[in-house]
Amino acid sequence: MKRFKQISTIILAIVLSLSVFGCTTKPNETVPDEAEKGNQAQEETYDVVVIGGGGAGLSAAIELKGAGANVVLLEKMPFLGGNTLISGGELNAPETWIQEKLGIEDSVKLYKEDTLKGGDYEGDEALVDVLANNAREAIEWLRDEINVSFKEDYLMQFGGHSVPRAAYPKGGSGDELIGKLTSKAKEMNIPIKLETKAEEILADENGRVNGVRAVDKDGNEITFKANKGVIITTGGFGSNLEMRKKYNDEYDERYMSTDQPGTTGDGIIMAEKLGAALVGMENIQTYPTCSPVTGVLSYVADTRFDGAILVNKEGKRFVEELDRRDVISKAILAQSDGMGYLVWDKTIKDGSHMGEYMDEFEQLIKQGTIVEAETIEEAAKFFEIDVEQLRETIVKYNDFAKNGKDEDFNRRGELIGLTEAPYYIQKVAPSVHHTMGGLKIDTDARVIDNEGNPILGLFAAGEVTGGIHGTNRLGGNAITDIVVFGRIAAENVLK
Ligand code: ADP
Repeated sequence: MKRFKQISTIILAIVLSLSVFGCTTKPNETVPDEAEKGNQAQEETYDVVVIGGGGAGLSAAIELKGAGANVVLLEKMPFLGGNTLISGGELNAPETWIQEKLGIEDSVKLYKEDTLKGGDYEGDEALVDVLANNAREAIEWLRDEINVSFKEDYLMQFGGHSVPRAAYPKGGSGDELIGKLTSKAKEMNIPIKLETKAEEILADENGRVNGVRAVDKDGNEITFKANKGVIITTGGFGSNLEMRKKYNDEYDERYMSTDQPGTTGDGIIMAEKLGAALVGMENIQTYPTCSPVTGVLSYVADTRFDGAILVNKEGKRFVEELDRRDVISKAILAQSDGMGYLVWDKTIKDGSHMGEYMDEFEQLIKQGTIVEAETIEEAAKFFEIDVEQLRETIVKYNDFAKNGKDEDFNRRGELIGLTEAPYYIQKVAPSVHHTMGGLKIDTDARVIDNEGNPILGLFAAGEVTGGIHGTNRLGGNAITDIVVFGRIAAENVLK
């Protein structure tokens, strides 16, 4: 999940990254004189080159350095973090210490089954098996080695999961993960090259990958030689409109994206030139509850998980609020104005994390996409929602809540009546959020070619890969994916 925080977080990250690493970090071996700068060909040699400084790339680089390898991390943006940074940072794992504390029964088998089912059984079972079996260790690694703080008495239950199993990092955001991974990378003296864009993956005459050609912000071409191999962790292609249309013309300019601008599918394009096979490219996920003005994912709208109901302009519910992201997104687009309206009250607000996202709330108020009012009628009028019908819908829903059963959509979990002012209504629309397709990998994170053979020396992890999530990634599974497979790629590139 990856679910994305506001742009302000990115700006903060730029500032932090620049102050941590400097705009251009010192080359590992070859340092050009000031006078030599500008379009100079340079060469540096490492054991492993990791392309992309999001969660997968940082996890891989840290593991590599810990194993004694000489590793460099390339990042084309002026900041680290990728989509991981602007995500909610929650990750799924079964049988964790938090589930034990909360008395939640779960198993690797159930997690695997939920994940496969969530992707319409189109995910690669062997990869999902690896994901499920290594999830607990991944979260413990984040806690113990990276020092990530998680809420100890709370787990999220995203759509499609049978039980609450998503650990919630401090602040409910990717800041906690990326901040701590970055600190660790810094402490380990991993060279990080910001504003350095990988443009080509290089291979020798036998097809063995042995380096990366990149360009820095001054236009200098740098060859990063890799004695042991290259790991691609460049993320998905949600921000690449042409690529989206190429693989699934449904996701054209009508959709905005929640993604950071660097999410342009570079790793897929580069590896394809070496014969890499692609899988599931048509599977593009939208997040249902984003700002219809900016496309940014709304964390305030997470009140949906804590009781808010979703209605249309006609004041009627039209989908189970805890259904899968794709189901809710399609249902919203099918409404008369292509919009959804989340409705909640004070009780739901107080039982949610909305209080942690008051900056976003203020922005939404300014944007005119949320309203707070003393009565349902007043709130409904703001968005020209059918007041009478909405009142009826709420009366009926409050009865369901009293009886503990949603007779209309069979909503999972606890039903909470909407009875206490102030009331809130938020206008939401789906945005492109995650691309499930990408490079075909095996269980060792080796990139597979069109003949079904591994491309020697080439590994990939995270959103750039395909095949794990099938048609639809469940909430909380992206972070588990990047940590599990980032670490596996690191282990195998050194073999
Ligand atoms: P994941 O969740 O798989 O780790 P992220 O989106 O978090 O993916 O991170 C991917 C990172 O890769 C982003 O920071 C992005 O800017 C970076 N990136 C993408 N393409 C390139 C490239 N050509 N060269 C260097 N970095 C890249």
